[in-house]
Amino acid sequence: MQVENIDAYEALVQFLYRAPIGLVQTDLAGAVDMLNPMASSLLMPLATDAGLDNLFAVLDAVAPQVKGLADSFGEPSGVVCEALRVPLDQAHTAPGAPQVLSISLMKLDPQRLMAVSTDATLEMQREQETLRRRLRSAARTDALTRLPNRAAVREQLETVLKRPENGTVFALLFLNFDRFRQINDTLGQALGDQLLVTLADELLAAMAERGWGMLPGARRIDAAAGSSHLVARVGGDEFVVLLDGLRHLDEAERAALRLVDLLSRPHMVAGREVACRASVGVFWGAGADGAADADAVMRDASIAMVEAKRGGGARHVVFEAAMRERAARRADIEAQLRTALAEDQLFVVYQPVVGLNPDGSTDHAAGVEALVRWQHPVRGLVPPFDFIGVAEECGLIDQIGDFVLLRACTDFMRWQAELGANAPRLIAVNLSRAQLAQPDWTAKVSAILAQTGMAASSLQLEVTESLAAQDEQTQLRLHELKALGIKLALDDFGTGYSSLSSLHLLPVDTVKIDRSFVCKADTSHHHQVLIEATVKVASSLGMNTVAEGIETEAQALAVRAQHCAKGQGYFYSRPLPTDALVAWLRERTA
Ligand code: C2E
Ligand code: MG
Ligand code: MG
Repeated sequence: MQVENIDAYEALVQFLYRAPIGLVQTDLAGAVDMLNPMASSLLMPLATDAGLDNLFAVLDAVAPQVKGLADSFGEPSGVVCEALRVPLDQAHTAPGAPQVLSISLMKLDPQRLMAVSTDATLEMQREQETLRRRLRSAARTDALTRLPNRAAVREQLETVLKRPENGTVFALLFLNFDRFRQINDTLGQALGDQLLVTLADELLAAMAERGWGMLPGARRIDAAAGSSHLVARVGGDEFVVLLDGLRHLDEAERAALRLVDLLSRPHMVAGREVACRASVGVFWGAGADGAADADAVMRDASIAMVEAKRGGGARHVVFEAAMRERAARRADIEAQLRTALAEDQLFVVYQPVVGLNPDGSTDHAAGVEALVRWQHPVRGLVPPFDFIGVAEECGLIDQIGDFVLLRACTDFMRWQAELGANAPRLIAVNLSRAQLAQPDWTAKVSAILAQTGMAASSLQLEVTESLAAQDEQTQLRLHELKALGIKLALDDFGTGYSSLSSLHLLPVDTVKIDRSFVCKADTSHHHQVLIEATVKVASSLGMNTVAEGIETEAQALAVRAQHCAKGQGYFYSRPLPTDALVAWLRERTA
């Protein structure tokens, strides 16, 4: 080698040796061919027992996606990933050492890869400072909780979504409190606001808690230090947590679980404990199609949140694309339901509930159950199963419930006039949870009774087990209704959570044994025993029993033999429009 060549070579080596960026050359499997001193000092904190022999092994704990990106890179050369942010575990690094690395990977040719790493600590700190400064502005702050607001989340999300690197992942957690409206109505606006501030504090505290929801070895950038995590209030009782720099969906799910758990504990507001639990929708950034914008991300996370609520609340659900379609379908039903209410497409049918007299005779005028129907102009007759759930979610159930109750009471009084002693003596109306949440509901029921001239004791309201076993507030409402003289029935008994042993806790007069038991009343010994036990426990508590869904004579005989007081089902009659019901009663009571 010529002298000047040796000098040039030496200069090049010195250049690479002193370069303030880390350079690593590897084969396609990540085996390290060469690395400069900066690379070894930057990567050393990540090295496991195997040292720095293999780049992918070194990155495995903190950026496992890099190997995947390299493996799936089909081109002969080009950029595999750019400026991927890798937080380092501070527990294992010296003070003043880098906190965050930036890593890019290039394919040099079909055999070799080159990784470039730099210390991105300062850059990250500057970004955080800018973020903090931006968040402090009034336009991006929620006046009540002093948390960042929706505009701030949107802005931060846009930044995250525009980021060039294709490896770091974020998660957006969308929180909504279960039955907050009910709590707000009960506490009053001022205390409701205080509760929101308390919830905001609890969320921040949860974020500040060290090491939560993170994989071992991965470092959470401290929220208090102004991190790329963000807690914001984006609407009434809607909060958002943006978690940035995650690697596994696991981390996001763990964070969601932790939040649901922490927020399930009672909250202190003005010296009293308030129970208010959260449902969380998780949008996982790795699943984002390239076109996703901030609004779409928030919408998808909130769709998952609605699914969490549908699942019973106080839980988290991870967004999936199929949910978008379901949400659109629900929105469609909601819009059509509004029209249905405005254009009188809803009507009520009545199914007879007969008395099963001990002497074997049948009392056809014992009662009826009001069941709502929807005569859709295109879809035809829509069963309640297809729209009650949506109506509950979008708040239309209040209107539907009022409509059914008023119609049922009106029809009931008309039958009294038309049929006299042969008219039904009791009318059952189904109730949903949201209706009981209306603070003025008891007053509304009294008003309808007064308006129609109906005696409270002729009305039976049916609630499901999950509803009856609800919180104190619901129990209170049920007791208010009982105090009016209204009867309460526990619907679909046997399908929910409560057992025979907790029946005495529920303020009901009647237990309706679910069809799934009754349909096996004549064939399954197991079901016979269950029905018998239910009748015994109910009667020991002074409660009545109704067997639902009797379809055959054999079933009717079986439930009679178990001493069920009443029966209902297609065997006696399908639900009927009011005129047909009158005819049915005339025929049987003549
Ligand atoms: P539910 O209160 O348990 O009502 C009984 C359901 O069982 C009715 O279904 C009835 O048609 C059906 N059924 C009665 N006898 C038989 C039988 O022998 N065999 C079979 N296979 N089914 C029978 P429907 O009308 O479709 O109502 C379903 C549910 O929708 C009701 O269950 C109730 O929970 C809810 N629902 C109906 N109307 C209203 C309403 O006005 N408000 C509310 N909140 N919910 C309602
Ligand atoms: Mg019912
Ligand atoms: Mg039922």
